[in-house]
Amino acid sequence: AIDFGHAFYEVKERDPAKLAVIDEAHEWTWAQFGDLATRIAGRLNRMGVGRGDRIAVLAENSAPYLALYAGILCAGACVVPLPFSAQPETLKIMFADCGATVLFTSDRYADVAETLGAGEVIRLEGIDAWAEGAPLPEPVRVKPDDFFDLIYSSGTTGTPKGIIHDHRFRSRQLVRMPRFGLDENAVSILSTPLYSNTTLVSALPVIARGGTLVSMAKFDVEQFLNLSQKHHVTHGMLVPVQYMRIMKHPDFDKYDLTSWRVKLSTSAPLPGPLIADVLERWPGDLFEVYGMTEGGLTTVLDARANPTKLDTVGKVAEGCEARIIDEDGHELPAGSYGEIVGRGGPMMQGYLNADEKTQESRWVSPEGWDFIRTGDMGRFDEDGFLHLLDRRKDMIISGGFNIYAADLEKVLRAHPDVADVAVIAIPSEDWGETPLGLVVPQTAGVDADAIRTWANAQLGKTQRLSAIELRDDLPRSEIGKILKKELRAPYWEKTK
Ligand code: ATP
Ligand code: MG
Repeated sequence: AIDFGHAFYEVKERDPAKLAVIDEAHEWTWAQFGDLATRIAGRLNRMGVGRGDRIAVLAENSAPYLALYAGILCAGACVVPLPFSAQPETLKIMFADCGATVLFTSDRYADVAETLGAGEVIRLEGIDAWAEGAPLPEPVRVKPDDFFDLIYSSGTTGTPKGIIHDHRFRSRQLVRMPRFGLDENAVSILSTPLYSNTTLVSALPVIARGGTLVSMAKFDVEQFLNLSQKHHVTHGMLVPVQYMRIMKHPDFDKYDLTSWRVKLSTSAPLPGPLIADVLERWPGDLFEVYGMTEGGLTTVLDARANPTKLDTVGKVAEGCEARIIDEDGHELPAGSYGEIVGRGGPMMQGYLNADEKTQESRWVSPEGWDFIRTGDMGRFDEDGFLHLLDRRKDMIISGGFNIYAADLEKVLRAHPDVADVAVIAIPSEDWGETPLGLVVPQTAGVDADAIRTWANAQLGKTQRLSAIELRDDLPRSEIGKILKKELRAPYWEKTK
């Protein structure tokens, strides 16, 4: 198994002049990056920070943040990257929940950081001077059960949960990710925040192997394209809304993106037509990955190799297994719709301070094996490709029938006037719930009712949309997930 700290100490010496981390203000070689990270580890160590301690960070992506991430790990402690997009009240709860002893922040988030109740708040902008002194001579030896990082789930469906990734979890991931080429030869661009597992999955293997990271503080299409071209980026893990925006950029085809080898997409559905466009105009391969911060199951779609399966999230990754269960927890036969459960992939140790939730997240098979309940509904087709439908909590139950928003969204997305869409359940006197389509139109003057009639002609009788409403925009989380909970709320408030 690869232990991050020991891997880091080895690779930082390998090619000292090679670029390690690039951001808006820094271009650090491995000599510079390794020096700062190990000095941070040294200072933490002298402060008495070590195994079992948690260090929280509230900051946008930057080179110093990445050095801190590595430094905390080399000191044997656990990183808690706090989601800066959360409300201050939520951050306060997370900070208390995680039990961190120290809080690092950036100028941008210092005001909020000061209110979280930390004994000590340290600025990333001054970290070079703060870490003055001797580097930690060697990484602290950790045990597989020691916490590596603690990531708060996106909170898309409920309140965020602190997900414990121990060293066993991350080591297995570090071993697996290089199959996408996320290794010493990779130049990987980080365009999503470091508090999301999505970002870490594409950053950590590259650091542990001695590759190069290009870090963006905030995603901007033009800047992304410029950085890609300038630094000969080879890899990136992006979320669908980023692909959507990048492909729409009027100058996309003018950029030289031939250095790109692998693009990854995760977090939310990547529509088939968008995949086709990316494959055609953006060099390199495209893999859509389905998984959760909790781990346990990964599926991968190699888009170029499977042009007829672009509406799926691919096949179960090597070493993983998935089954489909019904509401009562009974396993369903092949080809059925139901909740996806998985096992075999790197798996969280549990939710922090929430044993009951950890228990609820497990499903035990008749053979006595532990699976993780994904909370996602899906079906495997005859070729073993996973068709992902809704999250269980987003499913629409109308007149006793289950309606999957994903089916309706797929139909609507094919309409030329539809730029973006979300289908949600709204209350209905006759059916309990009924589907409503929220559409962001391609241009002004779009006729909502004409779209509804057009879509309903293609949908089954029990699936029909009750109405279409036009919107300027759909609310998304920082990581690009459509916030259906938020979209549903106003319709359900009226019924209370
Ligand atoms: P919370 O658990 O707090 O509600 P979350 O589930 O959004 O938040 P994550 O762990 O970031 O937190 O996301 C995992 C979920 O994202 C999956 O359960 C699935 O619903 C969705 N997802 C992941 N990958 C894909 C994908 N390729 N296509 C569609 N949806 C995906
Ligand atoms: Mg989840």
